[in-house]
Amino acid sequence: MWGGAELCSGAEDSEAILAVQAQGEANRCWTVIWSGFGPGQSFWLSWRKALVFPGIALPRRSGFTAGCIMKTQYPRYGWLMGLMLGGMFLFGIVGGRSADPAGVPRVVDPGPPPSDAIVLFDGRNLDAWESEQGGPARWRIEDGAMVINGTGNIRTRRAFGDCQLHIEWATPEKVEGEGQGRGNSGVFLMARYEVQILDSWRNPTYVTGQAGAIYGQAAPLVNASRPPGQWQTYDIIFRAPRRDGSGKVVRPATITVLHNGVVVQDHFEIQGSTYLERPQYESHPDKLPLVLQDHGNPVRFRNIWIREL
Ligand code: MG
Repeated sequence: MWGGAELCSGAEDSEAILAVQAQGEANRCWTVIWSGFGPGQSFWLSWRKALVFPGIALPRRSGFTAGCIMKTQYPRYGWLMGLMLGGMFLFGIVGGRSADPAGVPRVVDPGPPPSDAIVLFDGRNLDAWESEQGGPARWRIEDGAMVINGTGNIRTRRAFGDCQLHIEWATPEKVEGEGQGRGNSGVFLMARYEVQILDSWRNPTYVTGQAGAIYGQAAPLVNASRPPGQWQTYDIIFRAPRRDGSGKVVRPATITVLHNGVVVQDHFEIQGSTYLERPQYESHPDKLPLVLQDHGNPVRFRNIWIREL
């Protein structure tokens, strides 16, 4: 029995239930059950968790029995049961494999898209989207891509906070306009933090307004743009702002962006809504839709998926 208690107290992420029963005359007994041995806890520290109650003993000759059930950190041991019988302590495996111990990463098929991703657009329909003005999204679907057509911004029906986002986009092959007027769109995390989309192939503009910029706040580290008409990717890792009980932001939102596989934003601390000329944080819910901007240019999108973090 004591060997069992030591095993469970010394093993990380182990639990145990230990029962000791003292049997008196006429099948009356007292049973003591300890439960919840945590990592690093000694048997003696767990007295506070002990349950003591009278019970009816099974008929037996011995006046003392003890048993314990332990969940170990070792999957191949799983649950162990120990029993004191006739002065000997016996162990047996009773539970087979235990659940994955804490800290072991979940298995994800990387896809793409990864098996735990929420697919927002796979080329077939706009079911995951709606118009920012309400009602269904009305962007055109063409050759497996959704195309901006002047019907306004669209947003996801679902709301998201911390996330990993993959999105592919292409600015028009036929170049029209210049600067901010050329292939302009945008990905708005939480409907207010914009990663700029722009045809930034040999198209100078202000640096916090080019492709890969956090609009108005941070220029991309490099310009990794492909020529107009070609498919490009953003892989975005976003952490929503955190607030204290009074609503004050205690940790700003952060964002990492890979443009065509190249890091262009490296854990940038967003200063607030990119809609505002002087960015500041507005109060908003913990999760909000993802918005794609209709800036009047027929930018195309495909293969959009998101993983909640
Ligand atoms: Mg934009």
